Amino acid sequence: MKQILTQVTVIGAGIAGTWLAYRLARDGVSVVMLTAGHEDTPTVSLGAATVFNRRLMDSRSPEDLANILLDETATQHPELQSLLHRYLQREFAELTELVPFQTLATMLVPRHPIPFPRLGAGGEVIALLHEQILTLGGQIITGRVTDLLVEDGVCRGIAYVHAEGQGIVQSGAVVIASGGYSGLMPQAHTHNSGSMLGTFAAAGGELTNLEFSQRHALGDLTAGRVLYPPDLEGAQFYRGDERAVWLERAYATISEERRDIEIFQQYWRYNGHIPHTLKRGDISYSLGPIYGLSMGGVAHIGSASNIENVHVAGEAAHDIAADAIIGRPWAIYISSAGRLADTLKSLPAETTPEAFSVPERSSEVDAELRTSVRRRLLSFEDHRFSEAAVAEFTEWCRRSRKELSETHNSDAAILILAESYALSALLRRESRGYFYRADFPTADPTLSRHRTVARYDRFSDTVQVELVPNAIGSRPG
Ligand SMILES: Cc1cc2nc3c(=O)[nH]c(=O)nc-3n(C[C@H](O)[C@H](O)[C@H](O)COP(=O)(O)OP(=O)(O)OC[C@H]3O[C@@H](n4cnc5c(N)ncnc54)[C@H](O)[C@@H]3O)c2cc1C
Repeated sequence: MKQILTQVTVIGAGIAGTWLAYRLARDGVSVVMLTAGHEDTPTVSLGAATVFNRRLMDSRSPEDLANILLDETATQHPELQSLLHRYLQREFAELTELVPFQTLATMLVPRHPIPFPRLGAGGEVIALLHEQILTLGGQIITGRVTDLLVEDGVCRGIAYVHAEGQGIVQSGAVVIASGGYSGLMPQAHTHNSGSMLGTFAAAGGELTNLEFSQRHALGDLTAGRVLYPPDLEGAQFYRGDERAVWLERAYATISEERRDIEIFQQYWRYNGHIPHTLKRGDISYSLGPIYGLSMGGVAHIGSASNIENVHVAGEAAHDIAADAIIGRPWAIYISSAGRLADTLKSLPAETTPEAFSVPERSSEVDAELRTSVRRRLLSFEDHRFSEAAVAEFTEWCRRSRKELSETHNSDAAILILAESYALSALLRRESRGYFYRADFPTADPTLSRHRTVARYDRFSDTVQVELVPNAIGSRPG
């Protein structure tokens, strides 16, 4: 099996992984970055509009930042505001040396003759950064990471599978920058179902806040995509056969910053069970809220996970839980990648190859299994939520894992993640932010400032979840 030695392995080549790899390579740190290049694990950053919120960029005090990052769930990472206060100006200044930006009303976007945020601008930025990484001596591999090589609680590298077979990267640090998991749900704008998070949990990692995902107010549920202003111009919304007058008015009058959360809480919570349609001339879409940014992920303190030598960056991390997200994720991800680059740049070089035994792994993922997970999760979401349905789903996850061969550990990882998500939703017996359970439709004040933590126990092959105070250093053990 081919084995590479490097100082840092980065799993994921979206903005989080790419910015980190660029910063490390620039500082002379040897880095290998992997990207799955698989339909199930897309690089969401490529389709992004690369909008940075101007207020966030101009903020000079933690109080300003607190206002821009309002989070009624109280589950936002406690370090987030200080992270941005300390790193955002520095990292953005460095990014703008490579990519010039221009001001567009409340936003900053990469300079371009079209004066409008362009979906896909992210791909241009990433391509440029990848060129830089390669020029600076970094390596980029198209291959899916299947295993974290953890012995006695310490990670020594990763195993991956790609077109030419399996390989190993041995390193002093591994960074999970594998993106979000909202593609676990069928009604999502991205189909990243987050299997790497399940792989991390299977290796002993802690996942947190999984029940929270941002929901865009207006999506085309059939195609699984957000409806943007050009789709909505002159459109009419229908609730069953009748005009959805409240929804039309809310879309026209609520500010962009508050639109997603207010429409979710005031409208979809009560009307999500009734089919809605958008009509515009001859076009019609099945209308409803659509999953966007994942607000949970790998639990961390200063980017370090509970597994020694495993760090996290980007949407894979538990960082941003916020009422509004427009123009925030990229700002957060370049900041946390910058902080992590500072931490990792003094790592000693790997010199002696170690022997690892890695089971044979399949390069295929089971698309049918993922469809089944998505369909089953939808059957007890929001207004359909019931504890019995979660129990049945959890049982199904456990049964299905037992039927999988060892070579299909990425499929087992999906089932671990899905079980973790369902049990996290089960434990949160309330509705809060973008999370809604019809059986507990209001917020429970005793759960404020608490987040769920999910852990997989490989001996019993089950997931356990607990609620812990959302404070730095609250990690048990
Ligand atoms: C349409 C759209 C527009 C957006 N526009 C903006 C915007 O304008 N501004 C903003 O701030 N945010 C925006 N966002 C949100 C933001 O783009 C995402 O949150 C961000 O791109 C996530 O970056 P990431 O690097 O964490 O993950 P991703 O970009 O999703 O990258 C994940 C990477 O991990 C890899 N990976 C996963 N699993 C494995 C594995 N097992 N082995 C190897 N590799 C693996 C994937 O292949 C991929 O390369 C937008 C989102 C969408 C969907």
